[in-house]
Amino acid sequence: MIKVRFPIPDRLIVLTFDDGVKSCATFVAPLLKHYRFGATFYITEGLNFLKDKDRYMTWGEIRELDEAGFEIGNHTRHHKNVSTQLREELIADLGHIDHRCQENGILLPQTFCYPGDHNSPEAVTVLEERQYLFARRGVAPEYPYYDEGGRGPAYNPTHHHPLLIPTTGASGPNWTFEDFIWAVEQAKDGNIAVLTFHGVPDLDHPWVHTEPVQFESYMNYLHNNDCTVIAMRDLARYVVPFTEIKE
Ligand SMILES: [Zn+2]
Repeated sequence: MIKVRFPIPDRLIVLTFDDGVKSCATFVAPLLKHYRFGATFYITEGLNFLKDKDRYMTWGEIRELDEAGFEIGNHTRHHKNVSTQLREELIADLGHIDHRCQENGILLPQTFCYPGDHNSPEAVTVLEERQYLFARRGVAPEYPYYDEGGRGPAYNPTHHHPLLIPTTGASGPNWTFEDFIWAVEQAKDGNIAVLTFHGVPDLDHPWVHTEPVQFESYMNYLHNNDCTVIAMRDLARYVVPFTEIKE
């Protein structure tokens, strides 16, 4: 089975931002534009998205991210644990975000992120049927899950299923600059570093919070060290996506 399209360059970094936090539009996106970095923003209407428009983006702001060339990914309607959801519920929750994207003139999501990082073979089957290219999970089971961020495995396309791509670095109060460097250094010899952020800052969920000044130093490091920084869907330039894998 051929899984890699081109040799994976060293220092290939995937940037992802979960939950549609307001600071993604006001702080993160302008900084990424400055460096011309790609990134994926995983959107859910769960958590406090509908109630608190001071802390969560509007669909107008999400559309602006799409128009700016960033990827909008599906993070489900309700942000429920998909491993305990009925198949029909998950399909409806995915369809809801797709519908919202359509209504707002946003490209249909091609990649997915598991809410709370919970996954199951049944959920993967649903994603396969709906033709997602790639999906991102958390650091477990290879690494212990820490509530406030931590290290995870590098993504190796020859080992990992494209719909169960691990997080190599999960930002939070427990994840330091040293951990960030460690994650970037894993991106070699055919491995890719996948970074997971939430809000910068994240006022609603302090356990996934990233300090803006710290985030600036991360992006500056990626820029100064010739990293290629892409969105999840851009993996298809290097890796054969799920939809094109021939057994
Ligand atoms: Zn989430």
